[in-house]
Amino acid sequence: MNGGSPRYNPLESMNRRFDAAVEVLGLDHQFANVLRVPDKVVMANIPVTMDNGNIKVFEAYRVVHSDHLGPSKGGIRYSMDVNLDEVKALAAWMTWKCAIVNIPYGGAKGGIKCDPRSMSKGELERLTRAYTVAMKDVFGPEQDIPAPDMGTGQQEMAWIVDEYSKIKGQNAWAVVTGKPIVLGGSLGRVEATGRGVMVSTRSALAKMGLKPTDANCAVQGFGNVGSISAKLIAQMGVKIVAISDISGGYFDSKGIDVDAAIAYVANSSSRSLEGFPCERKISNGELLELDVTVLVPAAMEDQITPENAHNIKAKLIVEGANGPTTAEADKILDDKGILVVPDILANAGGVTVSYFEWVQNRLGYYWTEERVNRRADRAMKMAFDNIYNASSKYGVNMRLAAYCVALEKVSAVLKLRGSF
Ligand code: NAD
Repeated sequence: MNGGSPRYNPLESMNRRFDAAVEVLGLDHQFANVLRVPDKVVMANIPVTMDNGNIKVFEAYRVVHSDHLGPSKGGIRYSMDVNLDEVKALAAWMTWKCAIVNIPYGGAKGGIKCDPRSMSKGELERLTRAYTVAMKDVFGPEQDIPAPDMGTGQQEMAWIVDEYSKIKGQNAWAVVTGKPIVLGGSLGRVEATGRGVMVSTRSALAKMGLKPTDANCAVQGFGNVGSISAKLIAQMGVKIVAISDISGGYFDSKGIDVDAAIAYVANSSSRSLEGFPCERKISNGELLELDVTVLVPAAMEDQITPENAHNIKAKLIVEGANGPTTAEADKILDDKGILVVPDILANAGGVTVSYFEWVQNRLGYYWTEERVNRRADRAMKMAFDNIYNASSKYGVNMRLAAYCVALEKVSAVLKLRGSF
């Protein structure tokens, strides 16, 4: 796979689609120029004492792309591939995503260049707390609200709440989302992104006139998004024939038992699918090219490129990951007649329930899981239908339609607020 390949730049991919949407909308270039670049970029070098006594310096970022619609919102990624362009692209995608699902947030993203799998819990805690101190003037329940992304989860969010609360001298639950339930988290948040991927898949199959029970699916990535997407799509009656993670791909024509795979990863010392029993071991690249109805890339960016797009056989691609398709591959997929539900729509279920978590924190009143799921499903379905209709209205694919809908909204708010 091409993960982390310097050949593709997610920021360039974002900008190409952005520019195309500006042209479709005939948007005033002066406003487009404001939204093309982030509002704020903060970089910090964070020294951390490692368990062996050595001090290691970590490169860390927080990019606020826009706060025109409300406080900026976006996850924090721990990965060796983190770089400024990637964080900028991810921050902009958050702006478009929040606009698409109609939540009152702008977009941001954070990242630390590190390999969390090779670090101890103590090292991760010191790094996360130091990052919070470095970003204390950026973060805030009314300013900028982080959440988990690749390589981070509930524990990191708990450390951020604790450190930020200490700095402010009061409990500040609403400063991050994706927290453990006992620490002000929301029921349904862990499953929310995968659930939105499932709702997008269900909506798209219905538009295509395909029955879930006649469809099969391959899912790349088996972390939070991939595993929950696979589980919920399987519950719809779709046969999951392949899953994968960093250890490679696992194919079974009779269908993968997704619950068994989730339990396998939870109990494995490597926290991966390594050694998971299946009919045939395949590579991540082979998984993408399987002859399936639905392909869900849910690992990382730049996986579907001009090099492999011609070989994709899926009828429907639902992007669980952010930026899994490069801009150059879009046209190839269009020409092949593949329906692509773009990342900024398909994986927006996560930020939707993050918003619900923030609302519950501020109300001090907590919802049932049934209520969270019902509202999130409704938001995702409405967003899907809106983008699908915009795609017909503008005569463009769903990705460009999603950018158009988002840009139209954010630029309208920008014009109303003025302040240039
Ligand atoms: P995660 O860390 O929980 O899981 C990532 C998965 O990808 C793991 O299974 C890992 O083994 C696999 N992976 C990593 N490198 C790989 C490689 N080179 N080849 C194949 N597989 C590889 O992360 P996540 O939270 O599931 O995020 C996955 C994607 O979804 C990212 O693009 C993220 O930005 C996006 N996303 C996440 C959320 C969320 O709520 N967690 C929301 C929206 C979008």
